[in-house]
Amino acid sequence: MKVFISCDMEGVAGVVDWAQCRPDGGAAYERGCRLLLDEVNAAIRGAVRAGATDVVVNDSHGAMANLDPSAIVAPATYISGRHKPGYMMQGLDDSFDAVFFVGYHGSISGAPSVLSHTYNPEVISAVRLAGTEVGESGVNALVADACRVPIALVTGDDVTLAEAARVAPDHVGVQVKTSITRFSAHHLRPEDAHARIERGAAEAVERAGRLPDRLDVDDLSLEVDLQTADMAAVGAWVKGVERIGPRTVRVSGQTGEPGTGSRRGDRPDGRAVYDAFVALTYITRQAGGR
Ligand SMILES: [Zn+2]
Repeated sequence: MKVFISCDMEGVAGVVDWAQCRPDGGAAYERGCRLLLDEVNAAIRGAVRAGATDVVVNDSHGAMANLDPSAIVAPATYISGRHKPGYMMQGLDDSFDAVFFVGYHGSISGAPSVLSHTYNPEVISAVRLAGTEVGESGVNALVADACRVPIALVTGDDVTLAEAARVAPDHVGVQVKTSITRFSAHHLRPEDAHARIERGAAEAVERAGRLPDRLDVDDLSLEVDLQTADMAAVGAWVKGVERIGPRTVRVSGQTGEPGTGSRRGDRPDGRAVYDAFVALTYITRQAGGR
């Protein structure tokens, strides 16, 4: 039983401010990292208790090196650092049995959720999958779909769990806080959050074999609204991305080129869509200026 954990930070109990999530936040960041570490370790413990033998933790927040490697509990191994081609899903392949999203947050376009964004808040204002607005859980689910691994556990606030249910309706959700605004929330005591995450992780591992390993949609391409028309123009330079409106692009990952495994007319491959989406987020950083 192999478990893949993608951990973000904004959805952790006790976190409400960017200072807790960024290295220049000083003592606040140190506390944020500790809270994140304890939630990740709770997920690992629960997974192991239910039979997981391998756990890989992919740090998916900011510069993606927020955990003290020596404090992550065994048997988990740790993927950290920037510019990973697989970004928030680096390391997932078809040898895994369950995906956990820990510390996840709401989308930029949805209901108020602590520190909400969808990849880059300077650039992306909404993402739709099969016509439904999704957050990072919905985008990252494309890779899980490509690997045929179910999303079994999601932790975060109330909004995050509701958004994740759009792509993984049968996941085990552990709500650790209720968002009041984008910068305020009512939190569980961290020790209670950890206990619930540990129980939820165990249940998720037990349930994983019965969960669907494919998204219930025919078209895996994404529609992405960007903040400005300039960003949409630059975004369309990416292979597999086309502009369909002044500020909107369609990310299909399909280029029509032979040998890409993603010819036009096929059900788009989730990995190809995700790769094109990641390239879109990288390239549009150069077309900012807000
Ligand atoms: Zn984050």
